Amino acid sequence: MAHEVPPLPYDYAALEPHIDATTMHLHHDKHHQAYVNNLNAAIEKHPDLAKRSAEDLLRNLDSVPEDVRTTVRNNGGGHVNHTMFWNLMKPNGGGAPTGKIGAQITKDFGSFDDFKKQFNEAATKQFGSGWGWLVYEGGKLKIVTTPNQDNPLSQGLYPVLGNDVWEHAYYLKYQNRRADYLAAWWNTVNWDEVNKRFEQAAK
Ligand code: MN
Repeated sequence: MAHEVPPLPYDYAALEPHIDATTMHLHHDKHHQAYVNNLNAAIEKHPDLAKRSAEDLLRNLDSVPEDVRTTVRNNGGGHVNHTMFWNLMKPNGGGAPTGKIGAQITKDFGSFDDFKKQFNEAATKQFGSGWGWLVYEGGKLKIVTTPNQDNPLSQGLYPVLGNDVWEHAYYLKYQNRRADYLAAWWNTVNWDEVNKRFEQAAK
């Protein structure tokens, strides 16, 4: 079974005014689709890989044949990252984090505002394309960034939350103002989903 782009769990315009509908159309229908197409093309060359989830491939890139390893890293990463990203957002999202993740953020960063500030700083400084992440390691939350479509899974880390800072994620509405996009993005966060991922990470 080939990999597929999952449908958006809400309308393309549902994250307005923070993320515009045109960006969502391009981002989901074109960019995410291209990662999936490229991943599937790589797997066609090595049918054994078709039995494995994209997450499993990213966790074990060394086991992916060398001729498609970079393609799987970039496009498998693109697929997993974006599938997560759509679910991490929702209409009328945002606000202060709820549940266990809210408590852990306060414990590890002092306050939600301090956490947001550090996350936004790290993501603003990511040079070129990449992602800002919140990961859980050794009983503590940590902010990390990756270039391109690299996923923390490849470093043995489970991403609890992530934000896409590729220009395709914000340029139509925010142009060069990545910091404005980052600030607005918090209004879309689906803390229920972040809590689910945090539970998973704690296992
Ligand atoms: Mn993207």
